[in-house]
Amino acid sequence: MSKVVEEVTSANAQYVANFGNKGELPMPPGRQFAILTCMDARLDPAKYAGLAEGDAHVIRNAGCKPSDDAIRSLVISYKLLGTKEWFVIHHTDCGMQTFNNEIMGELLSGSLKTSSVDASGWHDSNAGGGTTDGKFVEWLTISDQSKSVLEDVQRIRNNSMVPSNIPIYGYIYDCATGNLIEVPEATAAGKAS
Ligand SMILES: [Zn+2]
Repeated sequence: MSKVVEEVTSANAQYVANFGNKGELPMPPGRQFAILTCMDARLDPAKYAGLAEGDAHVIRNAGCKPSDDAIRSLVISYKLLGTKEWFVIHHTDCGMQTFNNEIMGELLSGSLKTSSVDASGWHDSNAGGGTTDGKFVEWLTISDQSKSVLEDVQRIRNNSMVPSNIPIYGYIYDCATGNLIEVPEATAAGKAS
């Protein structure tokens, strides 16, 4: 068994031992809100936003982008499971600011091995066995974090399946301090009406 599998299963055994009555939790989030945030390993929404099991929906992807699939989840979140407020929470030092579509396409062309990054940018081993398929993917990268929060809130706000009475709040999580910093123009764009 891999070391990670061993660690995960043993951590889970501990969790089960202290599971308590969480098996009785209903499916709809008790605190009726949802968070869209980045998959970055430094972010723990349960901790930074004070969530317990059953409290809220957390939708995560690379860059906290309102992709079609993220919007699918948000629509299910309110339409079937009753959430009433949404947060879009980007973060400082996001990896999605370090490349663009062209760079990712080139890295995948070089090989399918993990690329490396240094001060001059991303580099691939070019070991071969790569694919040009990555050149046809929209990777939803980010150039300006605050602008991206605003655009992402606007995209969700303007979706025809999203009702106007759900407020959408825009924030950036500061990886250096743990602080959630509001992006006022994004929250303003996400205002309910
Ligand atoms: Zn990120």
